[in-house]
Amino acid sequence: MRTIGHFIGGKEVEGKSGRFADVFEPMTGEVKAKVALATRAELRAAVENARAAQPEWGATNPQRRARVMMKFLDLVQRDYDKLAELLAREHGKTIPDAKGDIQRGLEVAEFACGIPHLMKGEYTEGAGPGIDIYSMRQPLGVVAGITPFNFPAMIPMWKFAPAIACGNAFILKPSERDPGVPMALAALMIEAGLPPGILNVVNGDKEAVDAILDDADIRAVGFVGSSPIAQYIYERAAATGKRAQCFGGAKNHAIIMPDADIDQTVDALIGAGFGSAGERCMAISVAVPVGKATADRLMEKLIPRVEALKIGPSTDPSADFGPLVTREALERVKNYVDIGVKEGATLAVDGRNFKLQGYENGFYMGGCLFDNVTRDMRIYKEEIFGPVLSVVRAHDYAEALALPSDHDYGNGVAIFTRDGDAARDFAAKVNVGMVGINVPIPVPIAYYTFGGWKKSGFGDLNQHGPDSVRFYTKTKTVTSRWPSGVKEGAEFSIPLMK
Ligand code: NAD
Repeated sequence: MRTIGHFIGGKEVEGKSGRFADVFEPMTGEVKAKVALATRAELRAAVENARAAQPEWGATNPQRRARVMMKFLDLVQRDYDKLAELLAREHGKTIPDAKGDIQRGLEVAEFACGIPHLMKGEYTEGAGPGIDIYSMRQPLGVVAGITPFNFPAMIPMWKFAPAIACGNAFILKPSERDPGVPMALAALMIEAGLPPGILNVVNGDKEAVDAILDDADIRAVGFVGSSPIAQYIYERAAATGKRAQCFGGAKNHAIIMPDADIDQTVDALIGAGFGSAGERCMAISVAVPVGKATADRLMEKLIPRVEALKIGPSTDPSADFGPLVTREALERVKNYVDIGVKEGATLAVDGRNFKLQGYENGFYMGGCLFDNVTRDMRIYKEEIFGPVLSVVRAHDYAEALALPSDHDYGNGVAIFTRDGDAARDFAAKVNVGMVGINVPIPVPIAYYTFGGWKKSGFGDLNQHGPDSVRFYTKTKTVTSRWPSGVKEGAEFSIPLMK
């Protein structure tokens, strides 16, 4: 059995706590590794190591820092297949989907290669007589990221690539469910030329997280995970004066207008609802057809497609999706389906009893489709995070617009229509952070920013894109006057640039 420790000072080190978590292979249900859970003292040692390494890295010119990132891109390409297989085996998603997980992370590392340009400050010559003003962006020092199980490559890279390119040292606390890929990425950063200590990985659970939150030397924390934990992290990080950006759960709606191309919409809903077994924060979990005729047409086409979904082991190239991440997750999702039935929704396709021959202990379930879901039901209000799509019928556009806008979560939303006016009105008015127009999973590209609203995001700056550089740097503004400037003695009123 493999034991996974921590990655500190440029190498893997053993955990000393004596506490471990099981790392499963969801497709077989077997425990394949044990991951160490760090103590407060181990976290503190990682911070001290990072603190000692950071000043030199922060003073390294940004072009050289970018070159490390460029080399890292090459090394990940070299190891792509190996990383994707490890990711699929620990997470449960299929190998092509695991490759996408790596790719969407790499794109942020590519963005971070532009750091010499991105970190440029501002300059105003002659802001007053003999006075010049300039601003510069400086790294924060030691920063941390706490990441979820569902994108074990992408989200760590979304965090560490910009943070490190900005000159910070980064402590990553990945999910204890699939720590293998984050550990491998840290080793590749060192191979790419990153000085030891600039990327440390501390594996652990709540104890390690609380140690991060309380550590006065950690200046910022980026979190992605479920909303209650996101809110907890945001509040506790603020108590020690840290910057915090904490992204939470989701309930992403797709609005289907009567003029939508129904076949394209069904393809989009099937992929976005059931890909990765619905374990994506941008998965579509609610479909909102507008009008009875649209709803009936949609259900007629959706039912056979959900019934025909191919569930298989993560290594099966023909599988649409694989198992859920743990038995606990599987039971939680099935329980939500039971709740939906009790609440009176119509279970049009029931995947609860699905079994995969030869993989009887794997964490599989089939796709589930609910019709006639209403806004007071728990299966509508809460995040299920599994292969379950709920159809909420809206009478008209105004009701459809109100559903995602009034929902507690506000991560992503999509509208399917051929009407540019409806799409434009929807994009302008909907109270959600990321909008797709005939695009079911509108995850913005790396040079834009990613972030949900309401319970899906706590904090004011988004992930990746220009916001990531703002988040991981502090601005210093210098006002300078040389001796040829004004020589008229002390001024007691607030200085004005005359
Ligand atoms: P989670 O909240 O259980 O765990 C996330 C991280 O927090 C992990 O590193 C975990 O170790 C840590 N953690 C868990 N419980 C904790 C506690 N009590 N105290 C301190 N730390 C704790 O989330 P998950 O199950 O790993 O991931 C799935 C969730 O993440 C879903 O809700 C999904 O929507 C969300 N998610 C959001 C986004 C986004 O960008 N908004 C992206 C991906 C996933």
